[in-house]
Amino acid sequence: MTKKYQGCAVGIDLGTTYSCVAVWQDEHNRVEIIHNDQGNKTTPSFVAFTDDERLIGDAAKNQTANNPQNTVFDAKRLIGRKFSDSVVQDDIKLWPFKVISGTNDKPMISVKYKGQEKHLCAEEISSMVLTKMREIAEAFLEFPVKNAVITVPAYFNDYQRKATIDAGTIAGLNVLRIVNEPTAAAIAYGLDKRTNCMGERNIFIFDLGGGTFDVSLLRIKDRVSHLFKIKKDKVFQVKATAGNTHLGGEDFDSRMVNYFAEEFKKKNKVDITGNSRALRRLRTACKRAKRTLSFAVVATIEVDSLFEGIDFFSSITRAKFEEINMDLFNECLKTVERCLTDANMDKRAVHDVVLVGGSSRIPKVQQLLQEFFGGKELCKSINPDEAVAYGAAVQAALLSEGFKKVPKLVLQDVTPLSLGIQVIGDIMSVIIPRNTSIPTKITKGFITDYDNQVCVGIYVYEGERAKASDNNLLGSFDLNGLPIAPRGHPVKVCFTINENGILVVSAYEKSTGIMKEIAITNSKERLSSQEIKEMIREAEDYRFKDEKFLRKANVMNALDDCVYKLRNALKNKDIRLQLSSKKIDKINSEITKATNFHDTNQKSEIHVLENHLKELKSILQHIISKYV
Ligand code: ADP
Ligand code: MG
Repeated sequence: MTKKYQGCAVGIDLGTTYSCVAVWQDEHNRVEIIHNDQGNKTTPSFVAFTDDERLIGDAAKNQTANNPQNTVFDAKRLIGRKFSDSVVQDDIKLWPFKVISGTNDKPMISVKYKGQEKHLCAEEISSMVLTKMREIAEAFLEFPVKNAVITVPAYFNDYQRKATIDAGTIAGLNVLRIVNEPTAAAIAYGLDKRTNCMGERNIFIFDLGGGTFDVSLLRIKDRVSHLFKIKKDKVFQVKATAGNTHLGGEDFDSRMVNYFAEEFKKKNKVDITGNSRALRRLRTACKRAKRTLSFAVVATIEVDSLFEGIDFFSSITRAKFEEINMDLFNECLKTVERCLTDANMDKRAVHDVVLVGGSSRIPKVQQLLQEFFGGKELCKSINPDEAVAYGAAVQAALLSEGFKKVPKLVLQDVTPLSLGIQVIGDIMSVIIPRNTSIPTKITKGFITDYDNQVCVGIYVYEGERAKASDNNLLGSFDLNGLPIAPRGHPVKVCFTINENGILVVSAYEKSTGIMKEIAITNSKERLSSQEIKEMIREAEDYRFKDEKFLRKANVMNALDDCVYKLRNALKNKDIRLQLSSKKIDKINSEITKATNFHDTNQKSEIHVLENHLKELKSILQHIISKYV
């Protein structure tokens, strides 16, 4: 092929069971899904180790039956997780290959390769799959491929994303960006560039794959440039995600295997369920039949010498297939409903429903989904198992140079939680509100809390609670060397988030020019999406409690401020001379009362505090109006 692909970037859907690679072709003005050496457009995410070679993709999957302990799949279920993670512990029970605990609780896959035991982490296995995908692209483009956009599930946390980037790096790829799978699918459908959709569009992504089921509700918004009043770019916001980590094509295969094993038993009076080789051969036949049933109403099964020399010939109708899987299909719909409930959205507010994942080809699944959404046409013009790679390829082209015709759109994520700092009274002062699109930069002014304060502590939190310490502490630092000044001296705090989600917090004092900043990049301090969801939910539960806390904290701060001002007023000779000693006593006693409130803070009822504040304010008002 021609030189123009030099340096171009590909999009890779690194799937749990199958992966797919695609590239934008400027001269054809479209995306090409690249087929592998077997002519398939998706490649099994399988790596196998034998006595003399390492196999990846179809070659690895095809020899599973003979080498189950050394055939590794599902690395995506391990990536970025700890060995002790309960998800990992549950998965290990289902895998024929061995997983052990490595240093720092990292799960390590143990295989026999060239006669020796070898330990590999999930990143390494994924990197082998990525290498295969890179080679598939290179064979097609006839040029080395370096740059890639890789997709991950929307619910992946920072660790899992970071580990996916590491896998890319190990594969010799420069990962331009990690994109959420549902977002990539939405891009693929070009839903984001529909000219008739100024404003907001709610998109439901239904992704039923090989072993996982993920649904996501996205909102795509136009971001308008206020200066020129033109449509500038698109903001993709993940409103909610839901799913089932063990529901997909493999479960439908298993149901069919059980169905035929039963039939075989009835016909031949022998049970094959204890024979793994017979079961695996039957499973391969069932997979094929399942795919056939997506376009035909009946499929046949033929396995020569399935067990004890007995040949097996049978057939299954689409209706029967639907019947034996109906409970699983219904479970899918429950998940759809849960996602909408989580996002607090009525299903009628959904503009587009996009089908993703090989198993979304099943007609019954489509029918149930369409009925659920009131007969709405489903978006299925792009092959569902290619849609994610397709969108990733568009994004990859956008991030590379030299493509003129690629549709212009800018993907923007939003902050999942509010970010701010702790101010006096343990109040969370939000600087970047939740759902702000990134990159962003916001500066806010603060003041010192007491006289001659030479140092301020900046504590950075994320979360929705009113009380800072109820939120998640991301980091802290001190700004030292402030000038000697009464309380209320201004200090500026600036929050900046770049495209990759890295937060930099800086604090600045103008008169001295002192400045200090920290970058919060480490995933250790950041929360997983599950934790984020929980925090948002928690914040809602606690809203009432938080409102009370905030009201009280504000009153306490206002009381403190009044006391400070009254004390200063009393220090002023001119003012003191104008006041009767009775009045001064009264003021002093009010100050003492207020200070006592402060000391016994938590016990006082809010209305008592508020009444007292009113009183202090009126005294202060009186003095100020008269003498200041
Ligand atoms: P992943 O979950 O790894 O992203 P895919 O989205 O490619 O994988 O889905 C793979 C699953 O899709 C497999 O279980 C496969 O059997 C199933 N599948 C592929 N084509 C069809 C079809 N025509 N009908 C039903 N299931 C299909
Ligand atoms: Mg997938």
